[in-house]
Amino acid sequence: MLKRWIIRTRALATEGNPLEDKLIVISGKRIESILPASAARRFSGKAFISGQRYLVFPGLVDIHCHGGGGVDVHSLGGLLATSYFHASHGTSALLLTIFFEGLKELTRMAELIREARPLAPLRLLGLHLEGPYINPEIRGAIPHETLRNIRTPDVRKLVDAACGELKMVTIAPEVPGAEGAIKAFREAGVVVAMGHSLATTNEARAGVDWGANSVTHLGNAMRPFHQRDPGLVGTALTEQRLMAEIVADGNHLAPETLNMFFRAKVGDLILVSDCRWVGGMPEGEHQQGTREKLLVQNGVARRPDGTLAGAIHPLWKGVTTMAALPEVSIFAAVRMATRNPAKLLGKKNLGRISVGGRMDLILAGPDYSLRRVFVGGEEVFRAANEPPLPV
Ligand SMILES: [Zn+2]
Repeated sequence: MLKRWIIRTRALATEGNPLEDKLIVISGKRIESILPASAARRFSGKAFISGQRYLVFPGLVDIHCHGGGGVDVHSLGGLLATSYFHASHGTSALLLTIFFEGLKELTRMAELIREARPLAPLRLLGLHLEGPYINPEIRGAIPHETLRNIRTPDVRKLVDAACGELKMVTIAPEVPGAEGAIKAFREAGVVVAMGHSLATTNEARAGVDWGANSVTHLGNAMRPFHQRDPGLVGTALTEQRLMAEIVADGNHLAPETLNMFFRAKVGDLILVSDCRWVGGMPEGEHQQGTREKLLVQNGVARRPDGTLAGAIHPLWKGVTTMAALPEVSIFAAVRMATRNPAKLLGKKNLGRISVGGRMDLILAGPDYSLRRVFVGGEEVFRAANEPPLPV
């Protein structure tokens, strides 16, 4: 017989309104049922994972994450260590985001994802390629040598080199040849996000007409909003065919900006970590082999020349930053990091709690501190004062 555990909930995130005061019955690695709290007497006290009542959320889905934990993701050990770093902070599915270092390296990274997938403590969804077809004038921390001019036949080569693992690409719609590239990526089933772009409103609109369906870290690495030419920012906020990522780490966007984006686009906003390999590392300078030197400074990653190079927090930080805004509930914030990214990727069963579904769960305290995290039924994180699982 499969082992059964019971979780007492304070509130439980669902598709609609949160459910209060329920029991979640876990059988093996799956959610067997969700029952009213009054059903507790049907179970032995030993089956309850603790005496606590938790806020329960689905595991987070991070579609823009470069690394974390101080390791290099370009090796099996590094990719697994990065996966543990994010899983232990509540992320249960991750789209590894990389720059373009040539077709051979792209194939190697796709193979690495396949090798790591059965071993990783979270679901590795594939690759998000940030570039190579972005605007060099607003490349931010993306190395210049990873950028390319568009030749439409190259797009097919790139998709093929990724062996089915390329799920998303970031592209600037104003670069020459973008029409052919966006159409070719979409034909290959790849999500096209516009970003690292100085697009005018007309150029951003053209990108949407060619098939672009998302925006990469809205508000960062794009032309600032102008009232008569709102550009990619204004297009993202008003165009229903676009979803949009935001980095809500407390540094990339001001609280007022987060609030404005939330009001304009709540159902189509996607929280992403944009976490770099220095994620979780202390303030100061960090060197990754011969590859890259980054500074962790005042809560963000910077290149030695001061350019903002991404974030240093796992996705749960984005959830709690959003939930700290007066207008945003913790449940709305979690939806932006679960259902919304799953919707963009077209994955129905991801980022939700459902009876019969996988046990990808976050158990949090009333202050939103992480208490326990389960991915695929395995406990990947337990806070120090939580009891071990019943045996
Ligand atoms: Zn970027």
